[in-house]
Amino acid sequence: MSRWLRPYLCQGVRTLERTGEQDICHDDHTWLKIVQTVLRMPCEALTEILGEALSSASIRAFHGCRVGDAGVYFREGILRNDPAVLAARLRMLLDEEESLAYHRSKVEELLADQELFERDKGRVYLTADDKGLVESAGHYLLYGGEWFMCMLGFPGHEALRKRGVPTMLQLDLPLSAATTHERTQLAKVLLQEWARIKVNRPDWVPDLDFTFTLHQDVPAEWLIGHYHPTEIADVHHQYVKRRTPDPSCPHCQEGNP
Ligand SMILES: [Zn+2]
Repeated sequence: MSRWLRPYLCQGVRTLERTGEQDICHDDHTWLKIVQTVLRMPCEALTEILGEALSSASIRAFHGCRVGDAGVYFREGILRNDPAVLAARLRMLLDEEESLAYHRSKVEELLADQELFERDKGRVYLTADDKGLVESAGHYLLYGGEWFMCMLGFPGHEALRKRGVPTMLQLDLPLSAATTHERTQLAKVLLQEWARIKVNRPDWVPDLDFTFTLHQDVPAEWLIGHYHPTEIADVHHQYVKRRTPDPSCPHCQEGNP
């Protein structure tokens, strides 16, 4: 990072190293003001240049979901949210789950709610860190996504938790697939962290709280592996820790990554 930045610096990196430890949170934008003190151009312009440069890089990304066999993603990729597909799954779920019999007569009414139905249509969400999906946004792993949760409400939680296995998909995301805005935001995060490392010389790495919203399917070729978290915090139930009874699926049982 320092080598990439060299042409844009008006002072050496040592200037930052001599600043002395700062009591600033890792995600505080104040770090960018510190970066500015050694730049020969406005920091905003630099973040745009770095954002553009990132379009030829890729980043390890994650997608949390709940599925019976992760192999489907390695064959088909991660498909954009399609309400028609989700509706078919919801109807099947209601047919099969006696505990949800109450919802059967209401299903068409629920699906007619355009706002609910089209929620997240055409999008795929990816994160740059898997920790958050386990510790603070576990509902994707526990309930298979917000669409079903919104359709069924709390009475549907237990039935949703019974099906499939919490699954974390790992992929290498080409940053050319992210938006210019996302790349610029990521550039800011990288510059902040660069300054924090130079100034504070920390011995720890913060979680990268960053979400990419894709408006395209994730091709299977981007996927590099998957795993099944064994314990997940349930944000919708006072962060109770839910254990995964059997953290495996046919895809990993066959020895696949
Ligand atoms: Zn598996």
